[in-house]
Amino acid sequence: MSYTRITATPEYLLRKEVLALHAYHVPPGTDMVKLDAMENPYALPPQLRDEIGRLSADAAINRYPDSGAQRLKEKIHQLTGLPQGVNVLLGNGSDEIIQLLAMAVAKPGATLLGVEPSFVMYRMIAAFTGMNYVGVPLTENFELDCTAMLDAIQHHQPALVFLAYPNNPTGNLFDAEAIEQIIAAAPGLVVVDEAYHAFAGASFIPLLGRYSNLLVMRTFSKLGMAGLRLGFLAGGMAWLEQLEKLRLPYNVGVLTQLVAEKLLQHNDVLLQQAEQIRHDRTWLYGRLVGTVDVRAYPSEANFILFHVAHSARVFEGLKQRGVLIKNMNAAHTALTDCLRVTVGTPDENELFIRALQESIHQSKNDI
Ligand SMILES: *Cc1c(COP(=O)(O)O)cnc(C)c1O
Repeated sequence: MSYTRITATPEYLLRKEVLALHAYHVPPGTDMVKLDAMENPYALPPQLRDEIGRLSADAAINRYPDSGAQRLKEKIHQLTGLPQGVNVLLGNGSDEIIQLLAMAVAKPGATLLGVEPSFVMYRMIAAFTGMNYVGVPLTENFELDCTAMLDAIQHHQPALVFLAYPNNPTGNLFDAEAIEQIIAAAPGLVVVDEAYHAFAGASFIPLLGRYSNLLVMRTFSKLGMAGLRLGFLAGGMAWLEQLEKLRLPYNVGVLTQLVAEKLLQHNDVLLQQAEQIRHDRTWLYGRLVGTVDVRAYPSEANFILFHVAHSARVFEGLKQRGVLIKNMNAAHTALTDCLRVTVGTPDENELFIRALQESIHQSKNDI
């Protein structure tokens, strides 16, 4: 006979922060024009795919990976132009690095400070790790509210501050001087999350030497390697040496290391794709601005946030027409009636615009 002891239920056993979380929802995107997750829409050139095929066939997947990932790190160093004395820590995606940073500083009562709206994983990971989370609202135009930030820093003394640069889901680059003021005022670490660097150009990496509490994080996901899971954190040795202790030894697998090295040898291919995406972002933004009832926000990333009346119906209309984007409506009050679209191939973008116009038209007739 089997029975459940009262202590062996999730409600009894799990931390209340975990029970209170809503799982990060990833909708199935098969058969749809998938413009919801900031993925690079382009395949690799056939020759490079063949090379990856051979590399994978010869890979020693029976062996543990090189825990230090030395060759890959050197390649990253060289391509990123890191200042002297700056080191790199690799993560299984930058999500893992956010988690690692939070675990490292999560003393009882420690605070993680972010802005709202921004990347949801900062808040979720604060909850995972038992940290207090403080989200300072952005201004109406999604700029940093510098006074409110400095007040919150003074009041909450955060161990960790995350700023996405450009910000997700709003797409803008915050004022660099305001970020510097925040770094200078923060009593703990400030992490500038440059997930969309390839589409923006601006970076805080040159400032790593100036501020000892600054760390810069990047990911290869948005640049065409979302499936590989690879991100990195750049910062001073004193920090990275400690953080390395928390990194699980084999967090970056053999195939990820090999393929990422190969792709970084052909960095020009990825950068060319990013350049194409930037070009198409301009086209897409122009079409959004020219669509009645749509208010699009300027973007320095590979996605565009826009406001549209009856957003839920428009979102469903797009889905019915085979186009999946992201509904941001429920994510934050500042995002009411906002949707976010990832820049796709020119064909996908045109398809999206046509489906959007039809959906808006239909949403009005549905009332
Ligand atoms: C997508 C994203 C990440 C996470 O990327 P990984 O795929 O985990 O490397 C981190 N920060 C921001 C702001 C993002 O948008």
